Amino acid sequence: MEKKLLVTGMDFLLDWVKQHIKSAEIVCTGDVSEENLSQMVKDTDGIFYMQAKSYPITRKIIESGEKLRFIQSAGVGYERIDLKAATDNSVVVMNMPVGTTISVAEHTVALILGCTKNLVKAHENTVKGGWRIMALGVELWNKTLGIIGFGRIGKEVVKRMKGFEMKILIYDPYVGEEEIKKFGGKKVDLKTLLKDSDIVSIHSPLTKETENLIGEKELGLMKPTAILVNTARGELIDEEALYKALKERRINYAGLDVFRQEPVNTDNPLLNLDNVVLTPHMAVQTLDAVMRSMNQNGIQVEKALNGIYENVVNPEVLEKLKK
Ligand code: NAD
Repeated sequence: MEKKLLVTGMDFLLDWVKQHIKSAEIVCTGDVSEENLSQMVKDTDGIFYMQAKSYPITRKIIESGEKLRFIQSAGVGYERIDLKAATDNSVVVMNMPVGTTISVAEHTVALILGCTKNLVKAHENTVKGGWRIMALGVELWNKTLGIIGFGRIGKEVVKRMKGFEMKILIYDPYVGEEEIKKFGGKKVDLKTLLKDSDIVSIHSPLTKETENLIGEKELGLMKPTAILVNTARGELIDEEALYKALKERRINYAGLDVFRQEPVNTDNPLLNLDNVVLTPHMAVQTLDAVMRSMNQNGIQVEKALNGIYENVVNPEVLEKLKK
């Protein structure tokens, strides 16, 4: 077979990929070091980028791919792929924006409930033979939910949380007031959202503009009873500042599915707090979302191997290729 596809980040999906992708020889690797990927990419047509843990696709890797035509990110995020290097080298980068939205929204709801109902602490105490813990939970009814980033996931979270009869505030500089009103929300600036919300949930992408969006100053604006939930990307929060705010009870709780370093370093002080609910970047890990997303990824990669590109995030490359 002439074409070759390199599947990075996982080495146990070989059978699935072989069943779904017929137009290329498949090579899988779990070794995501720059050195290994630069070697393995040499004679491949495409990279299928899986993100079970965080790792970059660097300029060196991209430039080592003498035949490389495309990189398919299996998920929504592609911030660790060097987009500029890909564009400079006429490599098409695609993502998979749909398929996992509902699962991430549901996981966000689970983290909100986990925090407000002290679920982890209560579970740990019960299995140790204890009974009721001396910590009171929080009712959601009539409270205020603040959503940062009102895209696909943010909207699905709002649809679900409205069932709790909450007031909804939205901060998203790129979504208009009318759109927000349709979902029963109110468009506000970030400062108002942080000051007035009982739950703050983050759903914006990681960009230069959003890195450290929530730092010391922003945490200082939040209510001492507030809960912060992040299922977007770890880099959106200054983790050190968050640790201090939680430790000093300047905010009440945090529910986190994402971290600056993934897997989480065992010396990350957040792991020692009793007012956190932490999950290992697993919001998409439901049978439904994995099946749906992988099937759509399979179709998209198969098309890319045959020169048809969908969900392209650097469309300027397509213009270059037309010339
Ligand atoms: P989306 O593109 O549909 O929505 C993102 C929204 O953020 C957009 O409405 C955009 O206008 C807004 N935004 C951009 N810059 C902003 C800023 N500076 N301040 C506030 N809002 C801003 O994306 P989505 O599908 O809803 O996914 C959101 C993020 O969730 C992804 O970028 C990804 O990082 C993360 N995600 C995490 C998991 C997980 O497993 N935990 C899975 C999927 C996606």
